[in-house]
Amino acid sequence: MDTASMGAHDDVRTAPRALATEAVHAGRDDLARQGLHAPPIDLSTTYPSYDSRGEAARIDAFAATGAEPDGPPVYGRLGNPTVARFETALARLEGTEAAVAFASGMAALSAVLLVRASMGLRHVVAVRPLYGCSDHLLTAGLLGSEVTWTDPAGIAEALRPDTGLVIVESPANPTLAEVDLRAVAHACGSVPLLVDNTFATPVLQRPAGQGARLVLHSATKYLGGHGDVLAGVIACDEEFAGRLRQVRFATGGVLHPLAGYLLLRGLSTLPVRVRAASANAAELAHRLAADPRVAHVHYPRIGGAMVSFEIDGDPHEVIAAVRLITPAVSLGSVDTLIQHPASISHRIVDADDRRGAGVSDRLLRMSVGLEDVEDLWSDLDQALARPYRGAGNCATSHTEPAPADTQLPLRR
Ligand SMILES: *Cc1c(COP(=O)(O)O)cnc(C)c1O
Repeated sequence: MDTASMGAHDDVRTAPRALATEAVHAGRDDLARQGLHAPPIDLSTTYPSYDSRGEAARIDAFAATGAEPDGPPVYGRLGNPTVARFETALARLEGTEAAVAFASGMAALSAVLLVRASMGLRHVVAVRPLYGCSDHLLTAGLLGSEVTWTDPAGIAEALRPDTGLVIVESPANPTLAEVDLRAVAHACGSVPLLVDNTFATPVLQRPAGQGARLVLHSATKYLGGHGDVLAGVIACDEEFAGRLRQVRFATGGVLHPLAGYLLLRGLSTLPVRVRAASANAAELAHRLAADPRVAHVHYPRIGGAMVSFEIDGDPHEVIAAVRLITPAVSLGSVDTLIQHPASISHRIVDADDRRGAGVSDRLLRMSVGLEDVEDLWSDLDQALARPYRGAGNCATSHTEPAPADTQLPLRR
């Protein structure tokens, strides 16, 4: 544990700071006092200690509660000071007591399921759509869990005595469907609600304040923000964090300290990146909604940098035609990515389940970056023309009136 960091952090806990301020200062409050500006990277896997009695006591304390050991760390799988800075910062941004980082978003979700299963609570209630691999992990029961899929209104009824978790994503991957988190949290009663907040980020939505006990991020996406870190994190109360640390220690899905450093660096620009990319995305959603080649646009009420849309033509042709926009899975980077969920991100989900969740075969999902919006639009515009090239119907397709369902609530 980075004790210096935590001490300084406690000093300022009484003075609430705005999100933009937390983004650049949380997890770094001790640096100036240490004569540092950039956070140090601690790559140690082990930590020397001449006091093995003291170390034994710290290991016992960790085994009892999963609390971060006082004093120097023991071993890299138990905790790392650089990773702890990122955890401290993310907890501040999400407004939770703690956060626990993992090697990926899927490792983070796995740890939550293992915590609950270890308490005999193997049943999960979940709302589709979820990210494809989250859906697969639950449906296949890879970790011994059993899932009941329902819509938000059916949650209370789906709960059983052995229900350990309720899982929702909002806005959901890839349809951007939104869930009323307060209502869902209420329906969960005493069962912990996990909200996957990857798409919204704490800049647009802080689920803990609306009753979620667990907030999950694929930190690979917006938190890292540059497409060069794979990571996951759970923001939660200290009690649940302790159990997650124990599972992380026992199963080994730890985050590398270099990744922790890059994530802390990514957080400092998170509010600026999310707001700028969201402005681009809202503008593109607006233009897509007015385009006769586009059948339906999905853009969430809370905003954000993700836009999904169904086209009348062949979506594979659009993927093949983009030039500035990168045809790639993943999202949340500084550059714009587009992919076809039915082929890539949600391929692993059974086709009927996928379509039932609103993921049509004509849906394209776009993660809008920080490029100039006119450059993005001109690339999209020429890519959308490709399905019609050579078909001889280009002119007619442009003069047909837009279907009524292209209307979307616009909000900036
Ligand atoms: C990518 C993603 C995940 C999985 O995260 P990884 O870091 O790839 O393991 C989970 N949830 C959502 C919403 C995602 O987009």
